[in-house]
Amino acid sequence: MTVAAVHCHRHRAPLLRPFVTAARRTEAVEYVVAEVELTGGAVGQGSAAETVAVTGESAQSIAAALAGPLRAAVEGATDTVAGHSARIAAALEGATSAKAALEVALHDAWARAAGRPLVELLGGDVHGRLRNDMTISLEDPAVMAARSREAVTGGAEILKIKLGRDVALDRERLSAVVEAAPQARLRLDANQGWLPAQAIEIITGFTQAGLPVDLVEQPVAAEDLDGLARVTAAVDVPIMADESVWSAEDARRLTDAAACDLLNIKLAKTGGLRGALAIADVAAEAGIECMLGAMMEPRISVTAAAHLALAHPAITMIDLDPPAWFATSLPRGGYIQEGAWLRLTGGPGLGLEPLPPGAPPAPGGEH
Ligand SMILES: [Mg+2]
Repeated sequence: MTVAAVHCHRHRAPLLRPFVTAARRTEAVEYVVAEVELTGGAVGQGSAAETVAVTGESAQSIAAALAGPLRAAVEGATDTVAGHSARIAAALEGATSAKAALEVALHDAWARAAGRPLVELLGGDVHGRLRNDMTISLEDPAVMAARSREAVTGGAEILKIKLGRDVALDRERLSAVVEAAPQARLRLDANQGWLPAQAIEIITGFTQAGLPVDLVEQPVAAEDLDGLARVTAAVDVPIMADESVWSAEDARRLTDAAACDLLNIKLAKTGGLRGALAIADVAAEAGIECMLGAMMEPRISVTAAAHLALAHPAITMIDLDPPAWFATSLPRGGYIQEGAWLRLTGGPGLGLEPLPPGAPPAPGGEH
């Protein structure tokens, strides 16, 4: 396939309410849409959101990477889809969100040209479905309790609870959530907020209290693999690496050291679908399962993640609620959520309507 042209356009989408973690607070999302046009006329789109606190990328740097070295790496080139992915990966250091936007756009165009849903070309089943979760931001216990109650009323069966700034307050937060939503399964995410000894103490406390905690994400600093391994060995709850795993090499380092029980894959960290599948392959070899997550990203990115999640057997969990946070619901299509379950709409490529440059926000989310 030959890439005829690469374009990008910037968008800004307000959130329905602020998204707060131990690392950041977000009220509106700046994002860039990458567009790939093939010589046969098929056009695909991918997107990347500004996440300076996580990937170090601003909307400006994403747009600059796309318009500069990333565009130069593929525009006018003829290669296989995997070959184009490799060109994107090698085009510059870092810029993983920008790379993901272009690599997803390339795959969307490829699948549209073939007239098939992307998930099928990746080896998965377009009729598959996965149980989604709903994230509860890091707030005062009473606010988190109210949000949890609201999420369960809205159909959520799994809540992802953001913790990790103050251990005593974290205990209060979790108690309030459990009281408000006693039937919900819980995923906890400390976003690197605890020290290893604190993590062991607090997680052991949750276990002893019999709380319905399915996993704890990234309890300690990303680079502290020894600490992560110590927590994993000391507690009964499965520990998931997130900020510690960006690549298949990271995944191998983690699994070799038995530093975690689970991996969280995000396209914005891996630089696209091929890097994500490589992590899932490492996980499958090591006999561990993965969750497919996302940054606070728009619908195009999350639809790509949903196709990927249904394409690899090692990916058994999803954390793909970001579009439910957006005050806008464009573009249409891609996936739908029925109660707690997410499934694809089908159609060629990602199954989304193209998002035009300067598209005005549509009022109201769909969730
Ligand atoms: Mg996380």
